[in-house]
Amino acid sequence: MKFIIEHKWLSIVAIVVVVLSISLVTILKNPPDYLLRFIIEKGMARNNNMDTFKDDALYVITTGTGAPLPEANRVGPQTVVVAGDQILVFDAGPGSTLKLEMSGVDVSSINGLFLTHYHSDHIGDLGELMLKRWASNVATKPLQIYGPVGLDQVVTGFEMAYELDKGYRIAHHGEDLLPEEAFGGDVNEFDLGVELTSSQVVYSSGDVEVIAFNVDHLPVFPAVGYRVNYKDRSVVISGDTVYTKSLIDHAMGSDLLVCEALHMGFSKMISEASSDMDSNLSDVAHDIQDYHISPEEAAIVAREAGIGQLVLTHILPPIPSKILEAGFTKEARAAYDGEIYLSNDGTMIKMPVNSDDVKITELLN
Ligand SMILES: [Zn+2]
Ligand SMILES: [Zn+2]
Repeated sequence: MKFIIEHKWLSIVAIVVVVLSISLVTILKNPPDYLLRFIIEKGMARNNNMDTFKDDALYVITTGTGAPLPEANRVGPQTVVVAGDQILVFDAGPGSTLKLEMSGVDVSSINGLFLTHYHSDHIGDLGELMLKRWASNVATKPLQIYGPVGLDQVVTGFEMAYELDKGYRIAHHGEDLLPEEAFGGDVNEFDLGVELTSSQVVYSSGDVEVIAFNVDHLPVFPAVGYRVNYKDRSVVISGDTVYTKSLIDHAMGSDLLVCEALHMGFSKMISEASSDMDSNLSDVAHDIQDYHISPEEAAIVAREAGIGQLVLTHILPPIPSKILEAGFTKEARAAYDGEIYLSNDGTMIKMPVNSDDVKITELLN
């Protein structure tokens, strides 16, 4: 008797599972409109969602953590700082505009774009960023762009390249939606001279201050890093540089160093492994070693500047496997007692004001 009852229940469960499976397959094959709407709205809500940054804190988001060599999960370098009601963007590496939007940053509300230097991996998405900012909401003026000498040439060139597209979009959507005078960028060029120790406040608004300082990326000149101060919190963004005292001096006492990193040993391996290839890769992998900073040197900068948190970005060479990450930071960890984090596209570092807290969250993984 007991067997018959259990058998009956098993049959009912089996029938329910079969019915649910058939229903699920039917829904997936022919999804109803309400389900499609729900999924689309959920996806849209994630983009341009400034709720993520609503607390009074200094937020730093690495929206692009790669470099010129291809890596599936990393786009070109970009770091975004959200401080109070202000959004400041540092560099515009290829692909970074989409990652910025996917991270929830409102592209139409950017207060300033700051360029570190004019290597293509730092400016490749400038046209896209200017266009997206202009087209995403009714803009009243061009994007404010800050950078060292050479900025005018770079911005003017991108504006010229996007001139036809500007015309297409105005013709399609109308000037009320896309005012022509708000297209492109306003050039705020600064000159720090040749002294490696030079620095200058290049942006000041409310509680936010941005200081540009020279770094050493020769033969690329000028090349700068930036420090952002917001209330009692601060972050330093290295730009591309070798190990230099200028970076230590300007990073002194900051909460966070976001530093580029090239692992010399890994790059040497790539250079040697590709020496038989019919391409420039071997020579390029060799040459880049003399104008970047290693993870270990970045850690020494953080140590000397008294910084407790080091975030590595602009990862070179690409790290195609998680297994290699520990090797990438091995020497750095030996040189430094603070926290080291190898950032991903969409890593958010939150530093609330009036505290020493540093909280790291992945927004895109
Ligand atoms: Zn560079
Ligand atoms: Zn670079």
